[in-house]
Amino acid sequence: MTNHQILVVEDEVKICQVLCEYLTRAGYAASWLTRGDEVLPNVRKNPPALILLDIMLPGMDGMEVCRELRKTSNVPIIMITARVDEIDRLLGLELGADDYVCKPFSPREVVARVKAVLRRSLSPPEGKHLVAGEIALDEDKHQVLVGGREVKLTPCEFQLLKALVAHPNRVFSRGELLNVVQGYDFEGYERTIDTHIKNLRKKVATMVPDRELVSTVYGIGYKFNDPDV
Ligand code: CA
Repeated sequence: MTNHQILVVEDEVKICQVLCEYLTRAGYAASWLTRGDEVLPNVRKNPPALILLDIMLPGMDGMEVCRELRKTSNVPIIMITARVDEIDRLLGLELGADDYVCKPFSPREVVARVKAVLRRSLSPPEGKHLVAGEIALDEDKHQVLVGGREVKLTPCEFQLLKALVAHPNRVFSRGELLNVVQGYDFEGYERTIDTHIKNLRKKVATMVPDRELVSTVYGIGYKFNDPDV
């Protein structure tokens, strides 16, 4: 069982402690950082499932951190703001944040937001048919067509491809993908994801040899390349 790792970035240690306590109680693995400039190196080394990001931070402010993160990662981000007038700025700037909470907040509300954002980011959109680029996926029939021809996948590979295809160009960390295959992969180690992806790629590549559909994002994980997005 892998718990989603939630990273709290906030310079008020008291708030970090309270949030991490609630998140841990809700079944998440929570950790915190107090400086904005520590976030990027940290996320690169150990990609979390979601980041709670305060705006006023020493080192680098939360907006800058969010902007920088979005250059290489689609990790869900919930901004924390102390000022209501910042919300317009937040939304107007198109930072790529997924949600925001205002201080003062109840930790319970924050946990509920975390749950909602994670659910949204990990679940495929409505409908059992997914089509992206050369791939067509039918969940009911458990069938995958690549370039119009059927490819036989293991249940694990199918779940991985489904998650990737449902969110084209979104970068998934190994931890996130491990959650996707929970119940299908009984080993449950992040390195087994590499093996599944390797096998998946091999199968897909026999149908579409000239293009890389699933690519590695160095230091982070994997993504599905959709040429149409
Ligand atoms: Ca602050």
